Amino acid sequence: MTLPTSRRIAILGATGSIGTAAADVIEHLRRNDPTQGWELHGISGHGNLALLAKIASRHLPARVVLSDNLVAESWRTGAESHAGVTFPESCRIEFGCDALIELAAAPEVDIVVAAIVGRAGLESTVEAVRAGKRVALANKETLVVAGNIVHDLLKTSRGEILPVDSEHSAIFQCLAGRTSPKRIILTASGGPFRDWTTEQMHSATIAQALTHPTWRMGKKITIDSATMMNKALEIIEARWLFDVPSDRIEVIIHPQSIIHSMIETEDGSIIAQLSPPDMRLPIQLALTHPRCVVGATPTLDLRKNLELTLLPVDRERFPAISLGFEVARVGGTAGAVVNAANEEAVGLFLDGRIRFTDIVPACQNALDHHNHEHTASIQRLLELDRWSRAEVRRWQARSISST
Ligand code: NAD
Ligand code: MG
Repeated sequence: MTLPTSRRIAILGATGSIGTAAADVIEHLRRNDPTQGWELHGISGHGNLALLAKIASRHLPARVVLSDNLVAESWRTGAESHAGVTFPESCRIEFGCDALIELAAAPEVDIVVAAIVGRAGLESTVEAVRAGKRVALANKETLVVAGNIVHDLLKTSRGEILPVDSEHSAIFQCLAGRTSPKRIILTASGGPFRDWTTEQMHSATIAQALTHPTWRMGKKITIDSATMMNKALEIIEARWLFDVPSDRIEVIIHPQSIIHSMIETEDGSIIAQLSPPDMRLPIQLALTHPRCVVGATPTLDLRKNLELTLLPVDRERFPAISLGFEVARVGGTAGAVVNAANEEAVGLFLDGRIRFTDIVPACQNALDHHNHEHTASIQRLLELDRWSRAEVRRWQARSISST
C-alpha cells in the first residue's frame, strides 16, 4: 500500500473545544512531521465568526463554511455584531448546511474531523463516511442517533472512523487489532456532582454544573458529564464502534481522568491506556494512525505520587447510566429519541427553565412514550428527533402545571 503524500483535513466545528484543539494538533504536525503534507483544507463554524476568522488567518484554509445561514446573512450584510470580521482573500467562503456537507465529502479532503456538537453533526459525518474519508470522530451523537446506519455504511464504503472521544481512543489502543474483548470498561470522572446526594443535585446551579473537575469542554458535553448522560452516550458509542453487545460494557468511576478506559481479554488480562487529560492526544492519534508521531501534549510523570482511584458507579444517583445501557441494548430508534430529548432538556436547563435533576427523567419519559422501531432511515430518525424534542417540551409544560 502506498501512503498518500498529503493529509488534507477539514475540521467541522472548528471554533469549538475539539475544533480548536484539532487546529493546534495540525500546526504541531506541520512542524514535527513535515514530510507528510499536513494541511488544513477547510473549516466550518456556526457562531463566533471572530474566532473562525482568526483560525482562517492562521491556517489559510482553501474553504471556510459559515454553517448558520442567519449568522452568515448578518455577516454578509455587514451587521454591527460582526464589525471588523474579515477572512483572508485566499479563502473561499461558503454558507449553510449544504456547504457543510459538500466540504465533508469534497474530493480534496482526506480526513474529516467531526467536531460539531449534537445531532447537528449527523449528516456531515455520515456523508464523510459515505465519501470514503477517514473520520476523526468527536461527534459521538452521530453514533447514538444512527449507529446501525453508520455501522452498515462502513462495510460498503471506503470510509473509516477513528475515535477522538478519549475513552474510545483508549479502547482502540488497548484492542490493538483484537476484535472481541471479553469486556470494555469505560472510565468516568463522575463529573462535578460525583459525591453529591440527589437532594443536593436538585438545587444544582448552572454554574456548578458547568464546572468540570478534570476537563475543559463545550457547554453541552460539560452538562452531559454532570448528569453522566455523557457516559450513557459513550456506552452507545462503544456498542457501535466496537460492535460489542451492551452486556460486555461496564462503567467505572475514575476521578483523576488518567486511565482513559480499559479492556479485559478473554484470558483475563486487563489492559489500560493512561495519559494526562488532554484531548490533543486522541485527536492526533486519529489523524496519524497507524503511525505514532511525537506528541503535542506533556506525558505523565510517574515518579510523582500518582493516585489512581477506581470506584463503582451509583446508578441510583446517576440514572443516566441505566438509561444508556437500555438504549444500547434495544438499539433501533431509541438512540435518536434519547439523544434529542437530552439536547432539548440540556437547553432548557441552561435557559433556567428546568432543574438539573429533571434532565434524565425528561429523557426517560421520551423513551417510554415512543413506539420503538428496529430499523429506520435517517429521515425517520430526524422525524423522531423532532418528536422527542416536542415531547420534552410537553413533559415540561405538564410538570409546571402539576406543581
Ligand atoms: P463546542 O460547543 O465547544 O463546539 C461545537 C462546535 O460545533 C462549534 O464549532 C460550533 O460552531 C459548532 N456547531 C454548533 N451547533 C452547530 C450546528 N447546528 N451546525 C453546525 N455546527 C454547529 O463542543 P465540543 O466540546 O468541542 O464538542 C464537540 C463534539 O465533541 C461533541 O459531540 C462532544 O460530545 C464531543 N467531545 C468533546 C470533548 C471535549 O473535550 N470537548 C471530548 C470528547 C468528545
Ligand atoms: Mg469521553
